[in-house]
Order: sequence, then structure tokens, then C-alpha cells
Amino acid sequence: MKTIMIIADGIGGRPTDLDGETCLQVADTPEINDLLARRGAGGLLDPINNGVRPGSDTAHLSLFGYDPYEYYTGRGVFEAAGIGMDLTENDVCFRTNFATIDSDGNIADRRAGRISEGQDELEKALEELRSERFPEVEVRFKRSTEHRGALCLRGPELGGNVSPTDPHELGIPIPESSGQDEKSEKTASVLNDVTRQAREILSDHPINEQREKEDKLPANAILSRGSAKYPNLPSIEERYEVTSSVIAAGALYIGVARVAGMEFKPVEGATGTVDSNILNKAKMAVNELEGGKDLVFVHFKGADNASHDHDPEAKAKYIEKVDDTIGWLKKNLDWEKTHISFAGDHSSPVQYGDHVADPVPAMIAGPNVRRDQLKTFDEYSCMGGGLGRFSGNLLPMTLSYSNELPKFGA
Ligand code: ZN
Ligand code: ZN
Repeated sequence: MKTIMIIADGIGGRPTDLDGETCLQVADTPEINDLLARRGAGGLLDPINNGVRPGSDTAHLSLFGYDPYEYYTGRGVFEAAGIGMDLTENDVCFRTNFATIDSDGNIADRRAGRISEGQDELEKALEELRSERFPEVEVRFKRSTEHRGALCLRGPELGGNVSPTDPHELGIPIPESSGQDEKSEKTASVLNDVTRQAREILSDHPINEQREKEDKLPANAILSRGSAKYPNLPSIEERYEVTSSVIAAGALYIGVARVAGMEFKPVEGATGTVDSNILNKAKMAVNELEGGKDLVFVHFKGADNASHDHDPEAKAKYIEKVDDTIGWLKKNLDWEKTHISFAGDHSSPVQYGDHVADPVPAMIAGPNVRRDQLKTFDEYSCMGGGLGRFSGNLLPMTLSYSNELPKFGA
């Protein structure tokens, strides 16, 4: 049996989205509706639990079957794993920004003018980073897109409860980090040393001298936030004895899946925006399943971006693009032996422009699913579906239909 789990980030909405309807209702989705009507059952999903407003990272953990209250340590570790850093349980990770410090020593820009070139050279120069007080701690920095990057500190006895050096404020110096406990105090000390050292290295760097000549803001500091110790997750393979891949563009989603043990498969044209080539993601998913993987997790981001941008038309249009992609998958999956789940990781109503606790529509389709009477997939119809209302665990539910779930008890 094969299993494919598709998450359309932030797909759920509210009647305030567009003329009394949700974007999912407004969008024309014949393929998704047909898949549900012909082979599936629908329901309403509380990503974590009712009354909990999910982040995308905690929601995905919960959908994969991990209790986020047990396993979530913070965002930094997923961002670092998502940009390809290899991590162990001795790592504490941060999301970072290249930033600009002015001549008074205050933060002038948190994104160094959204720096778009020269970051590779800056990353190279930061290979020297290390704390003289704690030389046993390995320090690694990796840039990602524009001003973004990740910093990982690896060593024994490092805690992850560390305050950020990014105050989200301008006109003040970089704050000193502090730790909430003894081990985290050590991490904070290393972070403070490394932050000072990065300023020295970057201030004199030829890339920044050149930027100042061109009247661009120099990337002369690193700000860190989202401190997280590597969480000790049992992998998907350990839990369910399935091999798996992740197909996504956003670092956060790739990171959650990689930490859960999925193999990342990059796709050409995947951008993590409404313009992403999501058909290529579907093609890669079919390739992976045909190539021998038991499970593929596919992430589509655009609906959530449009929601944060308060743009209902863009959200509905993107949902139609997802529908086309589901149509392609319908023609190219082996329906005798494939189960598919399709849902959001949370609702993101466009008027509010952020994630809410409202449940999100979900469906599971395939040969072993008891079909219900639903003919359309949206927030209202799914109230009456065969999956009822449930919390998290979409992946183990789908794997159960594929007969891949271990038994609890004798
Ligand atoms: Zn999300
Ligand atoms: Zn979001």
C-alpha cells in the first residue's frame, strides 16, 4: 500500500472571507470534490485541539501524530533542519537575520536592507565563529534566502531556553541573551560571544565595505531568535515502519518533516509562494511512490500566504491551482493501493490574516475508506462527514487505511 498526505497550509476560512462565503467555497474545485465523492470521507480537523491556535510547526507535528506539548522545543531547530543543516540531540538552534548596526551601535535595520547578494562570502567568513570561553562548543552558521539564516551550537550540556538577541525593535543595541536555567545560561553565554564576534568579522568584511560604497545597508551583525534544543522524536520509520519523503518549499515544513525522519526531495520551481510550481511537486510525489517510498508528505503553502496578505481572490485562485494538481494526481496514482489525505494544517481567515483555532476541513480517500455522502469539500459540508470532528493524527489515520499502523496492545 502507498500513502500520500497533502497539506494545503491555512486553507480553512470564515464566512467573512468573501461576500459571505469562505475562499474554499468560492473557489471552483471539481477535482477535489470528485475525489471526495467517489472515494473518500470528510470531516473537521482540530489541528492540535479545540481552542488551540496552531503555529504551522506545532500543527504539523500534531498532524504527523506527535504530541506538540511533549515534543515541541521551538522553531529554530526546524528552520535549521529545513535549510539542510544536519543536527543531533546536542544541538541548540536559532533562526537568524543579517542586520545593520549603525555607528552608535544601535540596530538600524533588522534585515540589512533585505540583502540579496554576497551572503555566501559572509557565511564563509563566519566559519571562524567560536566562543573562547567555551571552545568545546561547535558553532555553525548557514545562510538561507535574503537576510535569513540559522545558527547552531553543538556541545554537551547546552540548554535551549534562551532569550533572543533579536529584540524586534530598532534604535537600540543588540540585547544580551540570558538562559532560564544553568545549561541555558551556558548557551546564552556562547550566543553572546558569537554575536559580538560576528559583528567584528562582518564589520570589516569587503562585502560590507562595498555595500557602504554603494549606499546599501551593511550586513554587519547577526540577530538570533527562536532558540530550540533538538527534540528527541521517534522517527516516522521507527513508529510506523514506513519509508517516507517530504516535498515542500518552506524551510519550516521541510524541517519538521526532516526531524521526523523524512527524506527531503527538492523540486524545480517550488517557491513556497502562490506562484509555486505545485504540479512539479505532484509529479515528484508520484516518482517517489513509484520509486519505492511507502509515504510521501506534500506541502502547499500559497493559501496561507494569501491569507496573511488579506487577499481572498488570491487565496481562492491558489485553491483552484491546488485543485488542478489534485486532478493530475487522480489520473496518475494507482487507486487500487493508494490512500491519500488532504487537509489544511489550520484555518487562516483572510480578514483576520492569521491562524485561528477554528477547525479545518479534512478528507481521506482510497480503496479501504468507508465512503460518506459528501459531494463537496469545504468548511460547511465537512461538518456532516464520516470522519466527524477529530484532533491531529491525520497521518496515523491515513496509514491505518494503508494497513501500516502497529497495534496498541495485544
Ligand atoms: Zn500553516
Ligand atoms: Zn501562516
